[in-house]
Amino acid sequence: MKQTMWKLENSIKSYDWGSIDSLTLLFGIPNPMKQPMAEMWMGTHPLGCSIALNTKNQKIKLDELINQNPLETLGEKTFKNFHELPYLFKILAADKALSIQVHPTKEKAIQGFERENQLGIDINSPNRNYKDPNHKPELIYAITPFKAMNSFRPIDEILALFNQVNVTSLNDEIQQLQHNQNPEQLKIFFQSLLSLSTEQKQQAINELLNNIDSFVDEPYLTVKSLTKDYPNDIGLFMPLILNVIELQPGQAMFLYAETPHAYLQGTGLEVMACSDNVLRAGLTSKHIDISEVIKNTHFNSVPLKQLTTKPTINQNKIDFPIPVDDFKFEIIQSDNHLREEKVTSPQILLCLTGNITLETGSESLTITKGESVFIAYKAQYYRYKGQGVLAKAFN
Ligand SMILES: [Zn+2]
Repeated sequence: MKQTMWKLENSIKSYDWGSIDSLTLLFGIPNPMKQPMAEMWMGTHPLGCSIALNTKNQKIKLDELINQNPLETLGEKTFKNFHELPYLFKILAADKALSIQVHPTKEKAIQGFERENQLGIDINSPNRNYKDPNHKPELIYAITPFKAMNSFRPIDEILALFNQVNVTSLNDEIQQLQHNQNPEQLKIFFQSLLSLSTEQKQQAINELLNNIDSFVDEPYLTVKSLTKDYPNDIGLFMPLILNVIELQPGQAMFLYAETPHAYLQGTGLEVMACSDNVLRAGLTSKHIDISEVIKNTHFNSVPLKQLTTKPTINQNKIDFPIPVDDFKFEIIQSDNHLREEKVTSPQILLCLTGNITLETGSESLTITKGESVFIAYKAQYYRYKGQGVLAKAFN
């Protein structure tokens, strides 16, 4: 393997919650059919593997390239620990809310995957919870203002909001939480909301929507905006229970295992471990497996101001510390000085703005906004120059 850097062609996912124009306006990605463009995937995931272009513009799937040269592309450490590219890097552009979800810990993913295999539940079956034996930690980095829900609010905050909306049909549940303000009771409260019968749920939602009709502040604006797409969904109560956060461009947050979250609106970069293990808890037309959701949810509260990741700035680089081994993430500001960057793991670089020229020992190419490259471990270093900003996923 002579080549060490490849420009990528990436697949676009047109899920119905995607934005029609965001990827075009921000990254120059054409959308002639005016379809929603929800995500662009950079990596080797079988449902959307990137294509690498060699210096003669010949195409090879990135997973084949890596499988044919595992040590040279991944390096010994990544190969030993993961046997594959351990992360998936995405641009995500949401116009509608995604489902409220939790992801299992690695340990519970291994157990759940094994259990469902033994039960003979087909991997593509709608009631299959565990698609693989891996955890799915995620980082979301905002390109535009990015609205999301993340983690339980402090219990006194939840109670204050429920008192404000005064949903009498939930009085018993609220009274119990009022008297026992602890994670165990929050679990019972959350579980009882998810377990309401269709009539009880509809009554509670009707009360909620009637009582907040004249409210013009958060989190009620979020509740109202969700009614358009999810008029009968128990997820309408979640903005009262989970923190509603709007990341500003350049801010990021890490989504821990067992933490309930939902992306609501905006464009961002997402880096995650290679996994599809999602347990849904609302804002979805899919089946909710309540007992699995509860088993995989950690009922501690996190105050809003603790949700964003505090980056470290090192000269022209902003590093977002990640508490897992599967991936790392950095923003690199490039200018007309030639700078050098070490390569200690397989990297994917995405150009966010400008034109940036990259040179490894063996090749050179220029990328512009929306374009990305894969750099093999074997490159050991690269140099870069040109006004612009790069986002770097590595591990
Ligand atoms: Zn998630």
